[in-house]
Amino acid sequence: MSITEITEKAKDSKEINREEVLELLSVKDESDVSDLFSAASDVRDRVFGKKVFIYGFVYFSTHCRNNCAFCYYRRTNELPRYRKKADEVLMLSGSLRDAGINLVDLTMGEDPVMRANDYSELLDIIRRVKNEIDISVMASPGAVPEASFKKFTDAGTDWFACYQETYNRELFSRLRLEQDFDERLNQKIWAKKAGLLTEDGIMVGLGETLADRADSIIKMGSLGCQQIRAMTFVPQKGTPMERIRPTEPIDELISIAVMRLLYPDKLIPASLDVEGIAGLKTRLDAGANVITSIVPPNEDLAGVAQHELDIENGRRSVAHVMHMLDEMGKKAATKTEYESLLKKLKEENR
Ligand code: SF4
Repeated sequence: MSITEITEKAKDSKEINREEVLELLSVKDESDVSDLFSAASDVRDRVFGKKVFIYGFVYFSTHCRNNCAFCYYRRTNELPRYRKKADEVLMLSGSLRDAGINLVDLTMGEDPVMRANDYSELLDIIRRVKNEIDISVMASPGAVPEASFKKFTDAGTDWFACYQETYNRELFSRLRLEQDFDERLNQKIWAKKAGLLTEDGIMVGLGETLADRADSIIKMGSLGCQQIRAMTFVPQKGTPMERIRPTEPIDELISIAVMRLLYPDKLIPASLDVEGIAGLKTRLDAGANVITSIVPPNEDLAGVAQHELDIENGRRSVAHVMHMLDEMGKKAATKTEYESLLKKLKEENR
C-alpha cells in the first residue's frame, strides 16, 4: 500500500495495522514525508484546531539514585547538582503561570531526599503549587511504588509522566540499568487506576529498530496514556553512550506524525529539549500540539536532553514561544480551555 493510501485511511478514521505503521515509519522519499506530515497536521487540526498547549518545565532536583546509560544526570556522572527549595519552585511556577503557560511539569531525578517519608516533601510542593499558584501540575518523579499513587492524586496532581523510552525489553535493560521493565510499565497502569492522567514516551535513536519503534508506539496507545511523546536521543558527556552517533531529528518528526495519525485526540509534545527553539515549527508541522520544556531564563535551571540549550538566552521562554506561535498562525490555549480538556480526559479515564 502506498504512503498516501495509508494516510488516507487514517484521515478516514480507519484502523492502521502494525505493517502499515512500519511502512509509515520507513518513509524516505521527500514527497512521502511531506504527505505524512500534512496528513498528521490535518488530523490534529480537525480535533484541536489551531490551539496549542504550553507546558513549563521545572527540573527542581537533578539528584538521582539511578544510573541510566543515556542520562547526563546518572548517579555516577560527577557533576554539580542542585535541589530547589519549595519556595523557589513556587516562585518559578508562579512566574510561568503569569506568562501564560497551561501546566507546570515538576520533574526530578529519583532523588532520595524527595523520595524519603513516602515523598512527603514532593507531595507538599505539588499541593502548594496546585493551591497557591492555581495551575495544572504534571509530576515526573521517576518510578513510584503502587501504594503511593493515591497520595499524588490527593495532593492535586493532574498528570503522572513516566517514560519507558523503549518497549524492547532487552534494549531497556541496556538503557535503564538495574531497573525493572514491568515496574516501569506498571507506572502508567497504577497512575491511571489512581485517577491520574498519564504520559509515556520513547526515545528515538537509542539503538532501536523500526519494528521496536512501531511496537513502542502501539504499546503506548494500548496503555491508554493521554499524552505520548517521541524525543531524539542526544549523546551526553560523561555517559557510556557519549560517543554514539546522533540520529537526525527527522526520525523523531516521522514518529510524531505516525503517533498523530494513530491517535488523533492524544496530546503529543513538541519538545524544545532537542533542537531548542529552532525545532519548534518542524515538530508542530509534524502533528504535535503541546510545547514542552519551556524553561525560564536566569534561574539556574537545567533541561534534560540539552541541559543548557537556549535557556539563558531566553529563547526557551514563554514570551519567545508565544511570539513564534503568532507567526505560525497558532493560538496558545487559555487556562479555561486547558482545564476543560483535562476535565474531559479525566472523565474518560474513569
Ligand atoms: S533518566 Fe531519570 S532516572 Fe535515569 S538517571 Fe536520569 S534522572 Fe535518573
